[in-house]
Amino acid sequence: MPKLPECDRCVLYARNPHLICAVHPTGPNTDTCLDFRENPDAEPDELWEPEGASYYNGELILQPQQRWTPEQQLELLDTHPLFTGRCPRCEFPFPQYETPPVHWDCSECGWIDDSV
Ligand SMILES: [Zn+2]
Repeated sequence: MPKLPECDRCVLYARNPHLICAVHPTGPNTDTCLDFRENPDAEPDELWEPEGASYYNGELILQPQQRWTPEQQLELLDTHPLFTGRCPRCEFPFPQYETPPVHWDCSECGWIDDSV
């Protein structure tokens, strides 16, 4: 008999490919194990991770917020003066900067680049 699904949560489970459990080395012979003892400290198979955070070395680390969805990034590519060279509101052509500015505010129509 192989191990039972609940073996994963049992204090007797050996977590060993050759030894299923301390009481039933080859697994219980029944569908339900009389010796099953739920391990209160058992960790779920997958650690629950809140959005914007993940476990690293057992510690919950906050990840930087992902600001842009792929759709938003595509839209940015289509409209942002960094990529189009034009103001998205008035089409005023921006000069070719050698070093692109952080904010591409438009001096013509007052468009404010708030993407960064
Ligand atoms: Zn403009």
